[in-house]
Amino acid sequence: MASENVLQVIDLCKSFHKLEVLKNISVTFKKNEVVSIIGPSGGGKSTFLRCLNLLEKPTSGQILIDGVDICAKGQSKHIDQHRQKMGMVFQQFNLFNNMNVMKNLTAGPVRIKGMDRAEAEEKALELLGRVGLADRADAYPSQLSGGQKQRIAIVRSLMMDPEVMLFDEPTSALDPEMIGEVLDVMKNLAESGMTMIVVTHEMRFAREVSSRTIFLDGGHIEEDKPSHELFAHPESPRLISFLNKVL
Ligand code: ADP
Ligand code: MG
Repeated sequence: MASENVLQVIDLCKSFHKLEVLKNISVTFKKNEVVSIIGPSGGGKSTFLRCLNLLEKPTSGQILIDGVDICAKGQSKHIDQHRQKMGMVFQQFNLFNNMNVMKNLTAGPVRIKGMDRAEAEEKALELLGRVGLADRADAYPSQLSGGQKQRIAIVRSLMMDPEVMLFDEPTSALDPEMIGEVLDVMKNLAESGMTMIVVTHEMRFAREVSSRTIFLDGGHIEEDKPSHELFAHPESPRLISFLNKVL
């Protein structure tokens, strides 16, 4: 069903002591949707993603995944199950440097999901093929370029069969010549129907790959529209001034 809600956020607030970082955010993400989140540094983009997979505990509000409020009392014992539904890719690749690529990819599914090792390795090879790295299964992270590491990090998340993929500025730590290869993998993933929420500085990705773009500024959603509309007809003065700076 194209209109199925995967993730529904209602009145989400997050404060660090007295600093209110997220202020009553309400937003819904549908299955197969690719949504970009753009906005100035310090606006709360990372905190928002981190709340979605409970790396940060929201101060108040609801986060419904498949209709279940993962912030509700009593849900904390299911936190690992909830987290597994959301793959997260960070700016820094966070691979295990003491393990080769194959181990990096299979450790989670084997240990956490109890997947059979042979099955996990087969799946890893298939996914490595999809990102053009089938020949690097034995390499260690130190032998890989930044772009290759990030493609491996994406595969590592996919190994867990997430319902939604969260990306936090996945190309920001890369040398310019490697940005394209990572964006291509993300674009293929989008075309395969993965539900994706992508915090990005890559305005071309936001405009051309994501169907919808959210402008998050000062801890609230200033604008949330189909991407082509948001870029062609920005309304909020803050968005207009932001786009003037980055485009
Ligand atoms: P963005 O990703 O849009 O740059 P962040 O979500 O990283 O924004 O940060 C939003 C605000 O929250 C910033 O003022 C930042 O300093 C603050 N902040 C983020 N994480 C913490 C934390 N763990 N403790 C205190 N303040 C934080
Ligand atoms: Mg950030």
